[in-house]
Amino acid sequence: MSNTVHTTCPYCGVGCGVVINQDNDGQITVAGDKSHPANFGRLCSKGSALAETIDLKGRLLYPELKGEQTDWETALTAVAEGLADIINNHGPDAVAFYVSGQLLTEDYYVANKLMKGFIGSANIDTNSRLCMSSAVAGHKRAFGMDTVANCYEDLEIADLIVLTGSNAAWCHPVLYQRIKAAAEDRDNLKVIVIDPRRTASCDGAFLHLPIRPGTDVVLFNGLLNYLVSGHHHDPDYIASHTEHFDQALNAAQRNAPDVETVAAICDLPVEDVSIFYQTFATTQKTVSLFSQGVNQSSSGTDKVNSIINCHLATGRIGKEGCGAFSITGQPNAMGGREVGGLASMLAAHMDFSVLEVDRVQRFWESPQIADKPGLKAVDLFHAINTGKVKAVWIMATNPVVSMPEADRVKQALKQCDLVIVSDCIKNTDTTDCADILLPATGWGEKSGTVSNSERRISRVRSFMPAPGEARHDWWIISEVAKRMGFEKPFNYASEADIFREHAALSGFENLGERDFDISGLKDLNNQEYDKLMPRQWPVIGNPDNSTKRLLSNGKFFTATGKAQFLPLKYNPPRNSCSKEFPLVLNTGRVRDHWHTLTRTGKAPTLSRHIVEPCASVHPDTAKQFDLHENDLVDVSSKNGSITVRLRISLDQRPGEIFVPMHWNAQFASRARVDSLIFAATDPVSGQPEFKVTPVNIKRHDYRWYGFLMSREILNNPGTEYWVKAIENDFWRYEMADEVVQDNWRTWLDEISGSKLRDRVEYIDQATGVYRSAWFRDGRLHGCLFITPAYDRLPSRDWLLTQFAVEEFDALSRIRLLGGRPADPDADTGPVVCSCFNIGKNTIINAIKDQELETVDSIGACLKAGTNCGSCKPELKALLSESVQTETATICSQ
Ligand code: SF4
Repeated sequence: MSNTVHTTCPYCGVGCGVVINQDNDGQITVAGDKSHPANFGRLCSKGSALAETIDLKGRLLYPELKGEQTDWETALTAVAEGLADIINNHGPDAVAFYVSGQLLTEDYYVANKLMKGFIGSANIDTNSRLCMSSAVAGHKRAFGMDTVANCYEDLEIADLIVLTGSNAAWCHPVLYQRIKAAAEDRDNLKVIVIDPRRTASCDGAFLHLPIRPGTDVVLFNGLLNYLVSGHHHDPDYIASHTEHFDQALNAAQRNAPDVETVAAICDLPVEDVSIFYQTFATTQKTVSLFSQGVNQSSSGTDKVNSIINCHLATGRIGKEGCGAFSITGQPNAMGGREVGGLASMLAAHMDFSVLEVDRVQRFWESPQIADKPGLKAVDLFHAINTGKVKAVWIMATNPVVSMPEADRVKQALKQCDLVIVSDCIKNTDTTDCADILLPATGWGEKSGTVSNSERRISRVRSFMPAPGEARHDWWIISEVAKRMGFEKPFNYASEADIFREHAALSGFENLGERDFDISGLKDLNNQEYDKLMPRQWPVIGNPDNSTKRLLSNGKFFTATGKAQFLPLKYNPPRNSCSKEFPLVLNTGRVRDHWHTLTRTGKAPTLSRHIVEPCASVHPDTAKQFDLHENDLVDVSSKNGSITVRLRISLDQRPGEIFVPMHWNAQFASRARVDSLIFAATDPVSGQPEFKVTPVNIKRHDYRWYGFLMSREILNNPGTEYWVKAIENDFWRYEMADEVVQDNWRTWLDEISGSKLRDRVEYIDQATGVYRSAWFRDGRLHGCLFITPAYDRLPSRDWLLTQFAVEEFDALSRIRLLGGRPADPDADTGPVVCSCFNIGKNTIINAIKDQELETVDSIGACLKAGTNCGSCKPELKALLSESVQTETATICSQ
């Protein structure tokens, strides 16, 4: 008998349904939930590998006070008394919470209620501030509320999808696969990608506009202008449902008067801008899908409104297959917005008007309630740095890695009077700064709800007991609240209790003037809550109700009921390049990793696709700075410097660099890219600019380069450059250093922590080459390769497979030191398809030998690309590379 649980993926804002099967031995398998309307059974590589991330390695299992294990009573009392002390002496604004889109709605609700309704400050902000707060601010300016009108089905119904600032193929893979599937079914579905980089999302796109970073407002102002001058707008809709159209049009005409001007500012070909405008103008069913490339900007809110302006002008809002659709990065960013988890909102989509403050206070029966917005993330950490905020409680997030000016954030926490961190992972860059550590439950143990990007509320269900003394976040917060004197308002018996209260608040004195209303769910009993099926809010009246689209009736949540056009002018990014820092740094995600690696860094399957943090540059930039593929490079800004591997790619614009955001101090010596970022924020949303940072780049030559693979984990090999990645039952390290060891054998014993036995070695003092492999019980236990020149190191891919070999004879031990197999086909190459662990060499050989011509035929032959489909763009690129190689060979004959 196996146990089956339906739950929700904990990664991105697509919010895929997941089915967990647990057999009698406790073995867990993960599959997509065919009945879930977000994914209909699909999962991406991250979702598919969830089972690899739920072991207890690295978990925080007990409360800790000043680094010593303690019991819950002591820890909770210390938190409550610590906060109360500071509040009594310095007022409620001297404390703050920094929370996360990883929290479930019930956790979020209780945290917000404690801070705003009972401590009496609005100093609670969330890492969602870094992700989509510009979308929230843009929605509120245009619609009067943070209203996401669309559903995912709109992407399948649309005839045009304008994918703006979003590499959905990697960051929202299942949604992207839904778009691809729809495009394969219907020839008339076009995708236009607006992104400075040529990403995997450009695969099959009708048009890619590699826009100059930060100029989106000009592009969309130009579009507004074009729509009106060509009479493609909808005057009736504008007259009946909107205001301030003329002002918006005048502003657009001033800074984007014609296509030529737009093309020059955006650094795009005039013809391509014209094609985009013409296609948008003539395609009624258009969805503009946007995410962090739009939001993470010092003018993010204006960018959002410039997109919305074009949809309002054409009346393409709230209708089937139409809309300006913001997709969230995190699993519960939307839930956080619902409860008021941002410092700029109060609760349940209510703000800080006198009326709404009074309403929420009466509902909560709270003694003192915040009556003005609190500190947004960047200001909050600044206030900690200056000592204005003296206590911070960080929940389920890692700001020492993810915040801009990350080193300053670390410094702020180190000098803060009281730092409390609730997390499920013991060693993170942030837990390192904590005075009090509180062990929280993780995915698989938690129970509650999340809301995805299409407003769909789904249940997260537990299928494992809480390990050690880990507790749910809502329980921890409530217990602290009780110890601060708020016993009755936080006396929750279960997450269902909290959900009912949250649902009731959403409907409290809500006569349709607030979009967020799930009062239809306020009377669910515990059983009904447990069984709650996914549904989209609002849910009013019958609990089975669900709402696909909002704003369809042309009525908005503004004072006049009309949508607001915004007059917008182009403000160049606040960070500008200089002679000293001539390049533009852009940051973002890679396909198989999530946030700061605390979860995906545990999964071998997800750690193979991109092993090292890297900087991608265009070949012209590489030439200009005398850089070569695989060089180690220092990327530096005025804030600091990191060292990463160089990748040269035509996908980059010249003069720009892309570095992934994920690597932290636990996984790499010098790769926390957010330590370079300036905290330049959008004036409306407070969201920081992560896409434009002036930097310089320089090759960093080391005296030796090497790699080590070992079944023993070395926390820090002690070299100046190191990166580690997990494999099935061993770790791999890339290393480089200035110090050449006199005796590599002794050094190896030292970093391994024991004298290694049963080893074979190759030492060439003259050339500085050292190779060693050591064995235990006949199996390979580790190997080390050192050389003064990086390109003389052998490929790691075949060596990785040798850890599965049961016995090595004398010849195979020697071959191991050679670093390459007797049969070249045995080297499968770097992993392309993570789901089935299929390497690049295997795919190239199959394309050649089997004469494969399509991605589907590769799938039929090797299975690659047949599970999550995230690697399909790479398979397509390999097919095209093979054709080019073959053509070049024929031409040269
Ligand atoms: Fe999870 Fe992938 Fe679905 Fe996002 S697209 S929710 S990461 S399975």
